[in-house]
Amino acid sequence: MSTETPLDLKKTVNLPKTAFSQKANLTQAEPARLEKWNQLDLYRLIRRAAEGRPKFIMHDGPPYANADIHLGTAMNKVLKDFIVKSRSMMGFDTPYVPGYDCHGLPIETHVEKALEKKGKKKADLNVETFRRICREHAENALKNQTRDFKRLGILGEWDNPYLTMSNHYEAETARMFARFVERGWVYKGARPVYWCIKDQTALAEAEVEYHQHTSPSVYVKFPLQSDAALIDPALAGRKVFVIIWTTTPWTLPANLGIAVHPDFEYSAFEYGDEVFIVASELVEAVAGKCGLGSDLKVLARFPGAKLDRLEARHPWIDRTSLLMVGEHVTLGGEADAETELDVSEAQKKSDHKAGTGAVHTAPGHGHDDFVIGKRYGLEIYCPVDNAGRFTPEVEHFAGQRVFDANDQIVEFMRERGVLLFSEKYEHRYPHCWRCKNPVIFRATPQWFIAMDQAHRDLVEKDEDGRDRSNFTDNLPETPAVSLRAAALSEIERVKWIPSWGVDRMRNMQKSRPDWCVSRQRVWGVSIPVFYCARCTEPVADPSIINHVADIFERESGDAWYTHPAEELLPPGYTCKGCGAQEWSKETDILDVWFDSGTSSIAVLENRPELRWPADVYIEGGDQFRGWFNSSLLIGIAAHDRAPYKTVITHGWTLDAQGHAMHKSAGNAVEPEKVIKQSGAEIIRLWCASSNYFDDMRASDEILQRVTDGYRKLRNTARFALGNLDGFDPARDTVPYDELEEIDRWALAELDRVTKEVLAAYEAYEFHNVYRALFNWATVALSARYFDIIKDRLYTFAPRHKARRSAQTAVLEIADALSRMIAPILVFTADEIWENLPARAEPSIHLALLPAASEESHDELLTEWERLFAIRDDVLRALEEARVAKQIGSSLQAKVTLQASGSALELLQRHQSDLRYLFIVSQVELESGGDNVVISVSTADGEKCERCWNYSTHVGESERYPTVCERCIAALKEIEEGDTDERG
Ligand SMILES: [Zn+2]
Ligand SMILES: [Zn+2]
Ligand SMILES: [Zn+2]
Repeated sequence: MSTETPLDLKKTVNLPKTAFSQKANLTQAEPARLEKWNQLDLYRLIRRAAEGRPKFIMHDGPPYANADIHLGTAMNKVLKDFIVKSRSMMGFDTPYVPGYDCHGLPIETHVEKALEKKGKKKADLNVETFRRICREHAENALKNQTRDFKRLGILGEWDNPYLTMSNHYEAETARMFARFVERGWVYKGARPVYWCIKDQTALAEAEVEYHQHTSPSVYVKFPLQSDAALIDPALAGRKVFVIIWTTTPWTLPANLGIAVHPDFEYSAFEYGDEVFIVASELVEAVAGKCGLGSDLKVLARFPGAKLDRLEARHPWIDRTSLLMVGEHVTLGGEADAETELDVSEAQKKSDHKAGTGAVHTAPGHGHDDFVIGKRYGLEIYCPVDNAGRFTPEVEHFAGQRVFDANDQIVEFMRERGVLLFSEKYEHRYPHCWRCKNPVIFRATPQWFIAMDQAHRDLVEKDEDGRDRSNFTDNLPETPAVSLRAAALSEIERVKWIPSWGVDRMRNMQKSRPDWCVSRQRVWGVSIPVFYCARCTEPVADPSIINHVADIFERESGDAWYTHPAEELLPPGYTCKGCGAQEWSKETDILDVWFDSGTSSIAVLENRPELRWPADVYIEGGDQFRGWFNSSLLIGIAAHDRAPYKTVITHGWTLDAQGHAMHKSAGNAVEPEKVIKQSGAEIIRLWCASSNYFDDMRASDEILQRVTDGYRKLRNTARFALGNLDGFDPARDTVPYDELEEIDRWALAELDRVTKEVLAAYEAYEFHNVYRALFNWATVALSARYFDIIKDRLYTFAPRHKARRSAQTAVLEIADALSRMIAPILVFTADEIWENLPARAEPSIHLALLPAASEESHDELLTEWERLFAIRDDVLRALEEARVAKQIGSSLQAKVTLQASGSALELLQRHQSDLRYLFIVSQVELESGGDNVVISVSTADGEKCERCWNYSTHVGESERYPTVCERCIAALKEIEEGDTDERG
């Protein structure tokens, strides 16, 4: 078809055309796309498409259903979504069942406060009503969280998440407790646990936080009661004192002993007519502190073992204080308050030289104290009540709160002349995670899971030393292995990312005390144990617990409160000890970490689409003490295995200066606000833009940089889509061997990037995915490839093979870009996908990641790297010429290259490519010189009106007198019917 009149030149240029807009408009586009996914039932479609593929299970650590999400919660969930979506696109079946942690103290506290505002008290309500309000609060909070998580583009079983408060879950939690009993790992006993005197409950290790705290530091002398000559003849007849140091004077009324290290050397030195004993290494330090002078006369030196089982007197109570030896004694000071630290806390522990090498021991108030006290047969004495007040038996201080009593005890000791020195002392001290008050160590009857011992050694004996027989029914003779040993061996089988996780977990399990699983609260799963009303024997029998669990399954855990004991026990159940049939119920509930730790059983094992163990757990570092830990112990109780194969730890979200975010400090980045202003993609891209193994910093400025990055990626995609207008892959694709060489180079680059991205996804290094894609898009694509092929795409006849060659490469690039970015930019990738020609799947999230080729492209890549290095020099020379006003646009330039040897050969080989490579009108090669020498001059000829290149041939055509010879050829093809327009 030839036209009568010449074509309108402007209309013959193939300008990019796409519905993929430059402006993302995410705040509107995202909700619209979510609605589309909803219509498609995308999550279900993905499940169906993945049927039969190998499974990959990322198990969700349940966020606490108490408040709205913050940036940290959003980051955690987005990282999980990266894992699920990338594994799905790697060809796995990756069902994602989100969960919520619904029980526990924070909700109880919240509900209590809400009641107080209405002028009501918890005590006014019955337990069922209080629990119902807690349940409603959790339901409401988790509904809001679900809405926000969905808004972030996270796909999953949102209609059917797992809730730790569901009937089934509560029943499974009770059954897991039965399992621990069955394995002989559960006992009830009095041993010191963290205790919040405000909330009046025991706390788990994961429920305390360490903060700076000022305590009185005191040096106190305990008179030796035993004959001092037993230590050394030189001490015969002298008034000898052992000096202890403590920062908790309030525990002194409970002092029952003093611990020394058997192998340390101790010194007895003279002060006036008295003799003091401290560790030799600390003599000077103690004497300095207590103002005892420097010219001290040491009467005897001896190992601590010499003191074993001698007796001292309590400084003011008429009672013996037993001297004991223990390896836990250090020369560094405090031994008890922070024994339950994990590694990071231990690292934070301030290093100080305090103490005397003789450790005040109150078995009811410290872990090490308890252990050594048990060994020496001391009473686990704890004269402090639930509210932290001294009981009436404590003379002088009865009824006082322990922290208030501290100063009075110091004064009291000063008056009595038993205090050598006191001062204020700053140290890290455990505080309640909930109310932020300092906690105490306090021995109360609690349910424990034993880390080391077999059950039979731990059963509480009654006053006659008799085992409680209801308890020991149905137990194996001896548990095969201790929980601690099993945990330590499982830890070695798990892959920890980052790798320091293994040390952290190992150290934690090595040193942790028995797990206190009882809480004096009501919003949780009741400990399904009964007590005989006549002889008080407890029934902790796996078959009875499972019987109760079945009732929970039908009626929820509320059944514990709505039924009398007799209805919860099998009919006619009688006490094995005394034959009575009347029972009372345990009032404690299980630790919430026991709840959430049960998730691998209650969820992975109970849902047909999932399986046990999980492939991956990913949470913040606090979960070493929390969920990673309780899940491990429960996995071992259930199956002697860890419930996870890989555990990933992510950092915290901090502000730009590295400080924690607080609403009150005004530095909090709120996800809701970011979504409203910029879109969820910006939060998602932020999660991918920095290394989540470290702490992640966020601020308006940082998010602005992320937005800029987003724009660059979007523009890259837009250029590709715009130039694919009219390209029909079935009709127009050019076979690989017939592609232009630079197009093959672009595909080789794509292959290189694909390999990098696949490896990064494989290793969960999303920041490396982002970095690889961003560098590729901005450097290889935008600044090089796309810039160079523009001329070919715009000015060649639409169907020209060279143009089709570029389009063939561009389609492959755009297709791969959308796939590789899809796990991160879930909305944008889907939008790119929609605008690509001829996509089979209705959503990118049903597609797979691109495969990398087996072939090596090294030769091609090296060749072009050399060309691009020359190009960089040429562009610099052009820029200089532009600044010198020698040329305007680069097309006004002619570049002359002088080269020799292999450089000249390289340039000659690509002579016809060079003008396009440099985006100039003419390139001339000259032989000579050692280095490549570049000179820039004005291009010959005139500017072509159509392609803006300069040519000496402009004006040669009568029909198109303003265009160059290339354009004349292109126009001829167009006039002959080469057009993409169809119909
Ligand atoms: Zn508290
Ligand atoms: Zn009984
Ligand atoms: Zn032209």
